Amino acid sequence: MQLSHRAVTLALAAPFRISRSTDVEVELLWVELAHDGVSGFGEATPQDHYGESVASATAFLERAAPLLGDDPFAHEEIGARLAELPGERAAKCALDAALHDLCGKLCGQPVWRLLGVPRAAPPTSFTVWLGDPDDMAARAARVAAEGRFRRLKLKLGARDGLDVERVRAVRAVTGLPLQVDVNEYWTVDEALDAIPELAALGVEYVEQPLPAGDRGGALLRERSPLPVYLDEDCHTLADVAGCAERGHGVNIKLAKSGGIREAIRMVHAARALGLGVMIGCMIETGLGIAPACPVASLCDHVDLDGNLLLAHDPWPGVELEDGVQLPSDRPGLGVVAA
Ligand code: MG
Repeated sequence: MQLSHRAVTLALAAPFRISRSTDVEVELLWVELAHDGVSGFGEATPQDHYGESVASATAFLERAAPLLGDDPFAHEEIGARLAELPGERAAKCALDAALHDLCGKLCGQPVWRLLGVPRAAPPTSFTVWLGDPDDMAARAARVAAEGRFRRLKLKLGARDGLDVERVRAVRAVTGLPLQVDVNEYWTVDEALDAIPELAALGVEYVEQPLPAGDRGGALLRERSPLPVYLDEDCHTLADVAGCAERGHGVNIKLAKSGGIREAIRMVHAARALGLGVMIGCMIETGLGIAPACPVASLCDHVDLDGNLLLAHDPWPGVELEDGVQLPSDRPGLGVVAA
């Protein structure tokens, strides 16, 4: 198989603010794997927060190219060879996605059919990024009025004492189901104060309230009146058992897991441990969202709005239908560069 790749920078529809950062554009990598005249594509969205960059992902792809071999269906063997190279989960995810895309195209089947899962999933949340309470409420009201989304995820963690007010302001303008994501910015005491108030406002669950690895996780798990889902704490299969001690669910993302195959292993491990399962995303194009859609069919909660936060999605094909991000019916991942 021939591997090629290129870096791209894409503008967001609006500045995206969370607890630790504000982004106006996203840097990512597109990979192409060619075999027998057919090409499979995948996307890497390396995250600074996890020590990855477009440069480190590019260096990884250079080292990975000779390890791919000539059989695109040999997922386990290819994965084992790539696992010898440490880290770089976003780049591994891009290769895993490209292999699935390629296999689907070679068989003439969409990836969701190759995986044997239904073309169905829970509705995605739409992310209301961090802002002042009135601003978040105004944006939430606009999204609710458009009627395209069936649930909202509110970014919290501003460290200004107004996080509960943000939720109260949004709740005053919409009855849509709400979840919140604190992106590691509360202490245990702040979480124990805020979560009962969020429960009273009808919030369904809280994502990553504490810093990853925080020693207070077990206590919060025991006392929180709402389920705690772990994102920054949960990257690969090796993290899932530890998350059962500190939370009630995990947020799986392909850019953290290294692709579809590890994500599915994580879903089953989480189920065996009695954890809830959510699938999330980075800000990525339809090429990054498409491989997550089939995995979403196995999850309780879905947050796959990344391509909808871009000014323009250069890989159309994922379809937002009645609030659900559905994979295409076309072979492979079913997205085509516009
Ligand atoms: Mg999160």
